[in-house]
Amino acid sequence: GKRFFTMLSTLVGGRISVARAGLSAAKSGLTIAIRYGNRRRQFGPKDEPEVPLLDYRMHKRRLLPCLATTYALHFALDDLTARFAAKRRDESLDAIEAEANALKAYATWHTTDTLQEAREACGGQGYRADNRIGRLKADTDVFTTFEGDNTVLMLQVAKGLLSDFRREFRDMNLLGMARFVDPEHLRGLDFQRSAFEYRAEHMLQNVGQRLERRVDDGMDPFDAFVDVQDHLVQLAHAEAERVILDRFADAIETVDDPPLREALATLRQLFALSHIEADLDWFLEASYVTPPKAKAIRGTVNDLCDEVRPQAEALVNAFAIPDALLAAPIGTREREGNERG
Ligand SMILES: Cc1cc2nc3c(=O)[nH]c(=O)nc-3n(C[C@H](O)[C@H](O)[C@H](O)COP(=O)(O)OP(=O)(O)OC[C@H]3O[C@@H](n4cnc5c(N)ncnc54)[C@H](O)[C@@H]3O)c2cc1C
Repeated sequence: GKRFFTMLSTLVGGRISVARAGLSAAKSGLTIAIRYGNRRRQFGPKDEPEVPLLDYRMHKRRLLPCLATTYALHFALDDLTARFAAKRRDESLDAIEAEANALKAYATWHTTDTLQEAREACGGQGYRADNRIGRLKADTDVFTTFEGDNTVLMLQVAKGLLSDFRREFRDMNLLGMARFVDPEHLRGLDFQRSAFEYRAEHMLQNVGQRLERRVDDGMDPFDAFVDVQDHLVQLAHAEAERVILDRFADAIETVDDPPLREALATLRQLFALSHIEADLDWFLEASYVTPPKAKAIRGTVNDLCDEVRPQAEALVNAFAIPDALLAAPIGTREREGNERG
């Protein structure tokens, strides 16, 4: 038994390391793309100076939610690493392993998506070998497969949740309709936490019931699991986002400096609302939000992108990646002025 758990803990350490390595690459890609987007000007109103790329709605939309998710994952992975290293007696390795599986899959998929977005956001410059985004993509692409294929890991996460479902959630009554359309309410942690919790619990209950029905009708349990795999992966994804939001919010609580705390809270709002927006079809289907509220969420994500935009370069500078390591001519910290492509 002891040997088995020692072996298992090496896998957990590997998954945390791969997730962190992936996130570092996402930070590099975002640093390059956001600095470039701040300096590169393209088009503009007649007889006026050209506009920096990062002032365009689409450019903000493409990069800033990725930046917010990168920050959220940074704090979630720091917390997981510390708990893994501490090997506390009051926390089972199972719980750490489940979280490592979920965060490894979530973080490495996030890296793949972010680097592609960063590459495109730099146009032709992003495709040049010396600007390194292609290399970062090539180096991290396999992270979604090794140390456990992401889809298979997410299926494991969902199976773990289902064993808890049997114990805890069988009789849960989910009445979660959130009807208010006050944008301040949307920005609050209470709304965001409740939405993520509701989604994870609702999916767990639904997929649990779907499995039970199949098994009750005589289906082999293996076939029943295969039949609902898409639902299981959706559940694990929802659980990952619930955990990441929790860890990010907890980390912000520990920050004393008011302006820093405020900047991080804005990123937390953008992380949460951009992912709720990405899954609005589910929230509407589950009647958790009304159509007017869905529209208000979309508008608030735009507002949050506008609020993060002036701080975007400072936020990537805070990753503190030395120019010598970033090694991308379009992404150096000191470089000033317009790019001509
Ligand atoms: C560069 C590299 C280095 C590696 N280094 C090591 C190493 O040092 N040590 C080591 O032990 N291993 C190593 N591996 C192996 C790695 O862990 C496996 O490649 C990985 O776990 C996926 O397994 P597989 O390649 O057999 O893919 P498969 O299991 O064949 O999966 C292929 C596809 O099928 C899907 N799939 C598989 N099973 C299911 C299922 N039940 N339900 C739904 N979909 C499913 C997967 O999501 C995936 O998309 C390495 C792999 C690579 C690419």
